Amino acid sequence: MSAAQVLAELRRRGIELIVEPERVRYRAPAGVMTPELRALIADCRPALLALLASEQRPRSAKCDSCGAQRLRANLTEDEDDGRLWCPECLYRRHEDELNRRRVGRRKDAMGGAGA
Ligand SMILES: [Zn+2]
Repeated sequence: MSAAQVLAELRRRGIELIVEPERVRYRAPAGVMTPELRALIADCRPALLALLASEQRPRSAKCDSCGAQRLRANLTEDEDDGRLWCPECLYRRHEDELNRRRVGRRKDAMGGAGA
């Protein structure tokens, strides 16, 4: 049985594996854990550790502007300063920029008219 299959089987039975440095602990409903299951875990412990570690890699991150927690894939990284932006903040920033440009143009127009 592969580590992934063992993990799926444990989860099907309501057993949760907890990764700690150098070992795997488990939380199981009463009476669910059997010597056979324990042996399965022991058999593929290193592979289970690797599998669980890869699952725990953060998939979400915070927007650096408003602090909203989002899926990493939904955040946009600023090319200049590496800040992360959620779609809302990105849109707001875009709007602000457009407004600034509009105001700038209006000032230019007025200056030109006054001359
Ligand atoms: Zn945001």
